[in-house]
Amino acid sequence: MEPLLEVHDLHKSFTVSPGPLGGARRRLRAVDGVSFSLLPGETLGLVGESGCGKSTTGKLIMRLLDADSGQVLFRGKQILSLPPGQMRPIRREMQMIFQDPYSSLNPRMRVGDIVGEPLKIHGLARGEELRAEVLRLLETVGLGEAHLGRYPHEFSGGQRQRIGIARALAVRPSLIIADEPVSALDLSIQAQVVNLLQDIQEQFGLTYLFIAHDLSVIEHISDRVAVMYLGRIVELSEAEELYRAPRHPYTEALLNAVPVPDPSLRRPRKLLGGEVPSPINPPTGCHFHPRCPYAREICREAYPPLEDKGGGHLAACHFSGEVGKFRKDRS
Ligand code: SF4
Ligand code: MG
Repeated sequence: MEPLLEVHDLHKSFTVSPGPLGGARRRLRAVDGVSFSLLPGETLGLVGESGCGKSTTGKLIMRLLDADSGQVLFRGKQILSLPPGQMRPIRREMQMIFQDPYSSLNPRMRVGDIVGEPLKIHGLARGEELRAEVLRLLETVGLGEAHLGRYPHEFSGGQRQRIGIARALAVRPSLIIADEPVSALDLSIQAQVVNLLQDIQEQFGLTYLFIAHDLSVIEHISDRVAVMYLGRIVELSEAEELYRAPRHPYTEALLNAVPVPDPSLRRPRKLLGGEVPSPINPPTGCHFHPRCPYAREICREAYPPLEDKGGGHLAACHFSGEVGKFRKDRS
């Protein structure tokens, strides 16, 4: 099967202005050589702490930001250098769902107009046909006719995310980049929205890049998972394998951080030693070494390449074979 999306060695840096105490302008490497591909109908979970470059990766693919270098191929076609006219039909096929549904919905527009707007812009429907299509989309996400004339503030967070999903679906995309679509919602609502995303994936044959900062959110929806740390992918594998036998200490630490369902066990855990280092001045060698319980001398000196540790399970760690020692029991 040909991949729907291929990302090759994507890079993006930002210039950081000096702080109030002065100093030089510096470069922040937000995305530092990211590569992966997505098969049609697949869900790839992209996970890491905030600031690791997940959202930037999504925006580079969507061309909401310009990459410094690298390639993005959609249906085999390099899209980063496409002129706007040729990008337009491809942009229709790639839609993004955002973390905060409220700020991405125009507060002065009625829900019917919000969902219908992309259909109008792309000339896909008008008049009665438009109304019928909007209604069909709202029903697909569990809303209905009674909601057509209402404004975003009249809805709960979960409902607003449903509206955002309906709007993304309107143009019949093939790829959806969901950037932390449930992070702002209550736990009980999160599962409903993830279930909805799963249902519509099946119904419309969608492919997902599902961005999250928490491995538990994407466990059941992901076919494969990529873990990012300071701008780089440090582990990428089949989901079931990654949860069962992680090969990178950072992934193991994230798995240990997954909340335990029994509330009596929900005490704060010491998850990771130290703070997330600054991407402006990342540590030498393996970026994870200041926080890593497995770190040794070589980790300070040499960055471990992302390589196949067997069966297509990629990890960037000199001691990936030892990972698992600090795994907490999840049951
Ligand atoms: Fe830890 Fe070393 Fe592996 Fe980096 S390379 S994750 S510091 S053991
Ligand atoms: Mg983000």
